[in-house]
Amino acid sequence: MNSIECTIICLKTSPLFIPTVLVSMGFLISVIGYLITKNSLIGLRFYWFANILALINAPILFFSMSCDMLWFMKVYFIYALVAISVLLLSPMIYKFYLGRVYGYEEDEELERLVDVEKVYVLNSALPKVFTLGREIFISTGMLDLLDNKELKAVLAHEKFHVIQNATPLVGRLKILTFLPISSEKLENMADDYAARVVGKEPLKMAKRKITEFYMSE
Ligand SMILES: [Zn+2]
Repeated sequence: MNSIECTIICLKTSPLFIPTVLVSMGFLISVIGYLITKNSLIGLRFYWFANILALINAPILFFSMSCDMLWFMKVYFIYALVAISVLLLSPMIYKFYLGRVYGYEEDEELERLVDVEKVYVLNSALPKVFTLGREIFISTGMLDLLDNKELKAVLAHEKFHVIQNATPLVGRLKILTFLPISSEKLENMADDYAARVVGKEPLKMAKRKITEFYMSE
């Protein structure tokens, strides 16, 4: 009997059959919600739900196995362990690297401006802004380049990434559930979010300034 047949038989005879079906249905509804919603924050919530339900299904599947543990479940659990360790460690290592190479300082004024817990100013003349886990890093070069509204726009864009990364794990669950979400789609969602906070124009202007800066380099 192959693994797939075994899985089906195990599931059907399992006392956890109904929970598995319910979680799977929730998963499907979340995926559909994520695909059809036009609101980026709601889309993100659906995406999280889909990932979390997919993750809940893994142990349910595992415990509902009345036959021997299947080899692919073993492989998956080892993979999950390694992936979680990498997920938790890599932002810390990168932050340490940034401190060593550039140096950074927390900026409470910027934190209040976008209502994000941690915003750091990076000592770099090149305009840069990015999110690491739940923390935003923005370079002195970016602060020099943009006016207040544009600054708020790029920070709002990054705030979306902070929300998306609510915890390092939840933000990147796709590594465990293999549910695809393209970085392009996430960038568009972040732009939509920023446009709702400050309007479309400041973000467009900020992007143009950044592009022009790098073209004249
Ligand atoms: Zn982005």
